[in-house]
Order: sequence, then structure tokens, then C-alpha cells
Amino acid sequence: MIVEKIPLGGYASNCYIVGCEKTREALVIDPGANASAIILKAKELNLTIKLIALTHGHCDHIGGLNKLKDETNVLAAIHKQDNELLSDCRKNYSAKMGMRKIETNADKLLEDGDIIKVGKLNVKVIHTPGHTKGSICLKVNDCLFSGDTLFAGSIGRTDLYGGSSDQIIESIKNKLMVLDENIKVFPGHGSATTISKEKQVNPYV
Ligand SMILES: [Zn+2]
Ligand SMILES: [Zn+2]
Repeated sequence: MIVEKIPLGGYASNCYIVGCEKTREALVIDPGANASAIILKAKELNLTIKLIALTHGHCDHIGGLNKLKDETNVLAAIHKQDNELLSDCRKNYSAKMGMRKIETNADKLLEDGDIIKVGKLNVKVIHTPGHTKGSICLKVNDCLFSGDTLFAGSIGRTDLYGGSSDQIIESIKNKLMVLDENIKVFPGHGSATTISKEKQVNPYV
């Protein structure tokens, strides 16, 4: 399994390319900006992008979505409760954050427990509401892509549209901290961590 992190855009959102070593097929998680950089990196890694998955609908995670879709012809998936953010530039905050207004739609709506297949990889959808209503974490083998739900030493903000501090804590405690302690966590911003490290150092969990 190949995991490549590409920090993109003014908010340094982490885009991840997750590739299957056997089939060279790949999933792109959160194309926050600069679709060309994502396409170039996939090419360098000899990977073909097959699907885009969004951990949630905020502008700093979807800024490169339309261009990436146009240039690769692949489908984009988001949790069903965050699709309304994609289509509304006020709810995805692109209208406010000084970037081009983003209004788009997903092709595929996800639910908790869904398994997405990319090559031989099984990508499990874990619904973790709190940062937004439809925030998800994606688990592939021993890696968890946590979006803006869980960061190294911190958690996502809950003061934006659809956010809830009670829900994010519940999501992290009941759905993430129950996972194997050795699981590596790749957040939507900042550096990677593990479940066991967060249990020790994260004041919110
Ligand atoms: Zn966010
Ligand atoms: Zn973010």
C-alpha cells in the first residue's frame, strides 16, 4: 500500500494519494487545491487515480475537486450529510475564505460502514460527525485518514455550520479510540500520529 501526503493550498490541507501496489490504482483523499500537483504526483508514483473521496465538504478540502474530476474523469464520493456543503459556497466557506466560490456535487454518497474498493484495497467509511455533520474517517489496512476530526494532539473546530463539540468527542471516543492502538493516523492538517499516541497526549480524548 502506498500513502503519499501532499499539503495543498493556503490552509495547508493534506491531500493523500492512497495506492494499491498490485494494481497501481489509487484513491485521492481531499483534493484541497492544485489538481495539477496531484495528477503529477500520481504519475510519478505510476498510479492511476480511480476515485476521489472527501472527508468532509469544507473549501480547503475540495478546492481542487472540479479540476481533478475534469482531468481524470473519476467520480467523487462524500458522506450523504455533507453533500449539501459541496453545493453551497456559504456552507463550504469558499464564499468567505477569499477563494474562488466552489459549488459542485458528489457522484456517490457514502454511509457509515461502506467499503470502497480501490484495486485490492478495502477502504472503510467511518462516520464521525462533529466537525461537520457528514465528516468521515477512512480506514485502509492499518492507516486512518481522519480529515478534520482528529489531529496530532488536537481535534477539529466545531464552531462552523453543522459542527457540534459533543458529537466530535463522542465520535472520537466511540469510533476512533476503539481502533487498534498501532493504527497510523493521517489528519487533514499537520503531521501524522497513531491512535496510541493520541490516547497518551491528546487532551480531548
Ligand atoms: Zn474542515
Ligand atoms: Zn480543513
